[in-house]
Amino acid sequence: MQSQSGSFPAGQPLWSRTASAGAVLGRLQGEVAADVAIIGGGFTGLSAALHLAEAGRSVVLLEAADIGHGGSGRNVGLVNAGLWLMPDLVEQRLGPDAGRRLNELLAAAPDLVFSLIEKHAIECEATRCGTLHLGLGAKGQRELEARWSQMKRRGAPVHLLSAAETRVRTGTGRYGASILDERAGTIQPLGYARGLAHAARQAGAALYKESPVISLSRQQGRWHLKTDHGAVIADKVILATNAYGEPLVPGLQQSYLPVHFFQVASKPLGSEWRERILPGGQGCWDTRKVMVSFRLDQQGRLILGSIGGLSRLGRGSVKGWADKLASHLFPGIGPLEWQDMWDGRIAMTADSLPRFYQPEVGLYCAMGYNGRGIGPGTAFGRALAGHITDGTDFPLPLSEPASVPLRRFRAGTMESGLQMIQLFRRLTL
Ligand SMILES: Cc1cc2nc3c(=O)[nH]c(=O)nc-3n(C[C@H](O)[C@H](O)[C@H](O)COP(=O)(O)OP(=O)(O)OC[C@H]3O[C@@H](n4cnc5c(N)ncnc54)[C@H](O)[C@@H]3O)c2cc1C
Repeated sequence: MQSQSGSFPAGQPLWSRTASAGAVLGRLQGEVAADVAIIGGGFTGLSAALHLAEAGRSVVLLEAADIGHGGSGRNVGLVNAGLWLMPDLVEQRLGPDAGRRLNELLAAAPDLVFSLIEKHAIECEATRCGTLHLGLGAKGQRELEARWSQMKRRGAPVHLLSAAETRVRTGTGRYGASILDERAGTIQPLGYARGLAHAARQAGAALYKESPVISLSRQQGRWHLKTDHGAVIADKVILATNAYGEPLVPGLQQSYLPVHFFQVASKPLGSEWRERILPGGQGCWDTRKVMVSFRLDQQGRLILGSIGGLSRLGRGSVKGWADKLASHLFPGIGPLEWQDMWDGRIAMTADSLPRFYQPEVGLYCAMGYNGRGIGPGTAFGRALAGHITDGTDFPLPLSEPASVPLRRFRAGTMESGLQMIQLFRRLTL
């Protein structure tokens, strides 16, 4: 563990201070050949690299910055089953067969994540005692009841908890109900990404950091990827850049709306509050449209999160928001000293479903996780590896990248709308 004191160190995620050090990677220098080249060192790319290397393929992974630089090193760490979209809607939008297959794959995604953590002895504060989805007001309770009954119908180990049970489990009396999903759990997400990277290297994959791919072209049946100091020639390419992608392939960036999510972490709480807040070790989020998440890390820091970008909201305003929310949820807790503040980008699609693209022969892409990418990214990375090695079907029908209608306008109005909502909350909670 590394530790460092001081407040708000330059917007780096808390996770970069508390994860075990990752492997020392170099930059790509010179030309190398591989069966498969992977662009992006997050859960999708790393899981694909691991599973391809285990299947005996030669793999080169190129990461523009460092492992976990994107959403994978910045998220809340809730390893949930399924998507944000309720399972009935997944089946309506994809059709009954494809929808059922996707629901089943993602219902089992936490099993995959926690089994990889165990198999590769990944140090990432893994706690598998469920997550809590919290219902706010009558509308929130109705939403939870619908979600719970759809999950229950599919045999999921989920429990609908009363207001009193929710208060005991969370330490706050602000919610009228909750769903406890036993399949889920929490992790230190950067630790998990670094652990996957280590496992992929052990299996034989070559990983490079600070090696952004600046061009991608197909020549004489093989893919050529260029970086500033080197090149990879490969039969197949996996583009795993999600919301952090550069315009390497026309149309992909336009197919999602980038939305920011910020988090604020306190100094470790005293023992009284550590015992009261989430004593069962779950992480949680609520049913507000502009949702709020909260959890503790292993050292007992309270981590609050919500939708919006720090540069737009302003750090002072976010600190005020965090003070207000903490004392609203846990009267008497404050004042807290907030030590870390960071944000990240989520790729939202028009129908809230993720995407599999194959823009050209031998070029694959999985993206559009809509803020639910730990389980799905890991599962889709494995699915891409399975398709390349054995021709197994993708878990989703392939689609053509289509622009989100009025993308720039929507992105702009959404960020200003979020700014107003968070400011309003800061004043009124
Ligand atoms: C703040 C936040 C909170 C979230 N909370 C949760 C949560 O609690 N639970 C959950 O399941 N999901 C959550 N998510 C979503 C989840 O983190 C993402 O869906 C997931 O990390 C996506 O993984 P990925 O590997 O596809 O992409 P990323 O992790 O974003 O990785 C993409 C990588 O590609 C690299 N890259 C980009 N361009 C190039 C290039 N040209 N060359 C080389 N490399 C390149 C980037 O540097 C980046 O490291 C959250 C996301 C955010 C941002």
